[in-house]
Amino acid sequence: MGWLTNWRRRRVLEKHRIEDALWHAATAGLAFIPRSEKLRRLALLFLAEKQLTGAHGLEVTDAMRVSIAAQACLPILELGLDWYAGFTGIVVYPGDFRVRREETDEHGVVHEWDDELAGEAMPGGPVVLSWDAAANDPEINVVIHEFAHKLDMLNGAADGLPPLHPGMDRRAWAAAFEQAYEGFCDALERGKDTWLDPYAAEHPSEFFAVISEAFFEQPAETKRRYPDVYGQLVLFYRQDPHGTIPRGGKDGTAR
Ligand SMILES: [Zn+2]
Repeated sequence: MGWLTNWRRRRVLEKHRIEDALWHAATAGLAFIPRSEKLRRLALLFLAEKQLTGAHGLEVTDAMRVSIAAQACLPILELGLDWYAGFTGIVVYPGDFRVRREETDEHGVVHEWDDELAGEAMPGGPVVLSWDAAANDPEINVVIHEFAHKLDMLNGAADGLPPLHPGMDRRAWAAAFEQAYEGFCDALERGKDTWLDPYAAEHPSEFFAVISEAFFEQPAETKRRYPDVYGQLVLFYRQDPHGTIPRGGKDGTAR
């Protein structure tokens, strides 16, 4: 990003601040959010540069905006806001929303159906979130999930491989993720209880998004169960949430 962006960001940080009361109200229920002034400043810049819009009559309050910003900025805390370049819109629905799907099969027949979604990240377009899912579903973190997809899409279609940093080994990434993904799908097929959300089996890109949620929300357990993937995520996100997460995180609770 150029000097103009840097200048604008400096101005925003000089002139504005997310007040203590608002920050605490918005993040009080989010045990995995670290007490971090850096995160708070990043969330402020995020809100200055992104456009949050309520859909279906939803009024997006300041607390909702800050809650979404804090969670969305956690994955890019050590990467920077430029990793969310290329889109500005974030659309928030009151609850799950319906999207029309269309697919042409190998016989040229067009199939149409409706999907009920808690979130969606569109390539080159907005992030769409269900506020009900974001606020009330303890099984998923739809904000981290959708923004992880956005990172994945930075180098083309979502495939579970975001742009790796110089020095990271693509083969090590692929080996760790393929082994974990295959093992996960296999366990699911054999009817085993899986610790991760079964939705992760849908596609390698979903596995990346779901395990990114776990990485930030339940780092100790993620590290224990998927040490190689955890190691790759530490390199990619440039954070090691295990040990830095405030006590009271979701680790230790069964799910
Ligand atoms: Zn997804």
